[in-house]
Formats: sequence, structure tokens, C-alpha cells
Amino acid sequence: MERRKLGKTGLEVSFMGIGGIPLQRFDENNTVEILSEAIKQGINFIDSARGYTKSEELIGKALKKVGRDNFVIATKAQSRDYEGMIKEMDISLKNFQTDYIDLYQCHFVCNETDLNKILSENGALKALLEYRDKGLIKHIGITSHNMKTAVMGIESGKFETVQFPFNFIESDGKTVFKKAKENNMGTIAMKPLGGGAITNRGLSFKYLSNEENLDCIIPGVDNAEQLKSNMTDFLNCYGDGKFTDSERDIIEKEKNLLGVDFCRRCDYCQPCSKNIPISVIFTAKAYYERYDLKDWALGKYKACKANITDCIDCGKCEKRCPYNLPIRQMLRQTHELLAR
Ligand code: SF4
Ligand code: SF4
Repeated sequence: MERRKLGKTGLEVSFMGIGGIPLQRFDENNTVEILSEAIKQGINFIDSARGYTKSEELIGKALKKVGRDNFVIATKAQSRDYEGMIKEMDISLKNFQTDYIDLYQCHFVCNETDLNKILSENGALKALLEYRDKGLIKHIGITSHNMKTAVMGIESGKFETVQFPFNFIESDGKTVFKKAKENNMGTIAMKPLGGGAITNRGLSFKYLSNEENLDCIIPGVDNAEQLKSNMTDFLNCYGDGKFTDSERDIIEKEKNLLGVDFCRRCDYCQPCSKNIPISVIFTAKAYYERYDLKDWALGKYKACKANITDCIDCGKCEKRCPYNLPIRQMLRQTHELLAR
């Protein structure tokens, strides 16, 4: 597996890394299997977050079994102030059962107000610098879903890496990563497969591996078999790097099919006080409409314990969605389609 230097951190990371969101849905054994397979495949980068419920804890337990030194550990927290960030880092260190975390990122920095809070006198950056001086974290990064804020974060000169969504449908990352490289920063692409919405993984990997300003991609995986199959697609995508006409056609078809208003299954919209499983419902809709698995989709929707009929219109989910999806409207459309 090709390794790339993560900008000024000097860390050597595998181009293919692992995103930690899906791990929280499974158990410790599953995480051990994934990390063991990752070592076999030459993968050494794993990214989690304080917000991914038990993901950090599962990784910590698995690392005890497979060896902490086999991985560069990255994680992130949404605290914007000094005290909050200290608390989050302490929890992360405990969860990972480690003396140090390689990369700690300010998570989900999507507007100027949040960025200014982090950089202010008593902001989260002060805590991160303090822990970096103590050796408890090694490097400091930023993650964002907003191009303008990501560029402002880069221009602040305070961060060593930037993490941003990037795939052949969402290409704002090109600008962000170019800017980051001009500042010698490490670059990490989240959502390389559009949160699982992009079906042609090989072409997606080919697109990503051709991006000269990108150091690492972090597709989430449910299990070791999925990791293996990602790797097969990834290795098959090499070649001269040029897209054939038929490959371009396939990419255009995927782009047209997905549009921009599609769910990336990140679950940032949660928690919903009425326990509506928003991303599960949108996945069911996608399977019904796009992948011709109508019976499966109908069954999946029926099995959901709550749906739009339970919604109290609080609107909190829409404020949290990084893609500004009109969630309630989409839930209503899904209900019309799948409620039988
Ligand atoms: S608007 Fe409806 S779906 Fe969204 S969080 Fe509130 S109750 Fe849940
Ligand atoms: S609705 Fe938005 S926040 Fe919720 S899972 Fe989908 S993309 Fe993520």
C-alpha cells in the first residue's frame, strides 16, 4: 500500500485509511478483525471522533490486541473552548488506552464564529497546544464541510492537517487541498465514497488517487470483508490513471443519479428526540430508487421504529446536517414512497 507524507506532520500514512463512523454500530471483535486485516493490507491510518459514540473505545480495545504502534491514530472533538477540549482529549486518551494520540482535530468547523472561538484566547486551540507540548497529542488538525471556513482555517496557520469531504461528486475539496498543500499541510478526504452512495468504488478510488494534493482517504467500513473488497477495487484502479470514455460516462451517470441532495449517512443530524432513524430511512429510499432492491427497501422502512409521522417539527436535525438537506421534506417524500 502506497504511503504518503501527511504534510508538515511528517507522519507517513497509507493512502487508504479507515473512517471510524461505522465501527460504533458493531462490537469489539469486529473492530479487531478490521484492524488485523488493515495491518495485512498495509493500512496504518485510522480516524475516529468523540462524537462517534463508542468508536474510540472499540478502537482502543482492539489496539490492545493488534498493537497500538501499527497505527497512526487520529480523532477529533467539537469543543470550541479550552476547558471543553481538555476534557475531550482526556476522554480520548482513556478510550484509546494510549499515552499519546498522533493527530487531534477540531471537528466540524463549518463557520467563522466557531473558528474564531477555537482560535480565541481561551479557545480549544490553547488546550491542543498545551497537550501537544506535553506530548499527549502529536499534531493538530481541523475538519470542515464548508470550503470558506476550511480555507480560513488553513490560512490561520494554526493547523497541520485539514480533513474535508471529497469524491467525484463533491469536488470543493480540490480547492481546499490545493490551498492546504501551499501551506505544507496534510490532507485527508472524508466521504471518499459519498457515505456509501457512490456505487462504483473502483472509479471513485481512481479519481481520488489521481488527486496530487491528497494524502489519505478514509472510507468507513462495516467489516473486514468490506475492507478487503475496498482494497481489491483500489488496487485494480491503478493503471495509467487516465479515464476512458466509458469510465467518464459511468461517472457522469452516477453524478446525475445522485444530484447534490443525497444523504451521506454521517448521522450528524442525530439525536432525534423521537428516535427517527433518519439515515436508515434515506438508505432505504436510495435502495428502492437507485439499486432496484424494492422489497428489501420496503422491509427496511417497515422495520423502522419511528418515521415522519412521529416528527414534532423541531427542526434540530436540519440545523445539524452539514449538507443542509431538507430532512423533513425528504422524510415526507420517503414516507409517500415506502409506507405500505
Ligand atoms: S425535525 Fe423531526 S426528524 Fe428532525 S430532529 Fe426534530 S423530530 Fe426528529
Ligand atoms: S441527513 Fe445529513 S446529517 Fe443526517 S445522515 Fe444524512 S447527510 Fe448526515
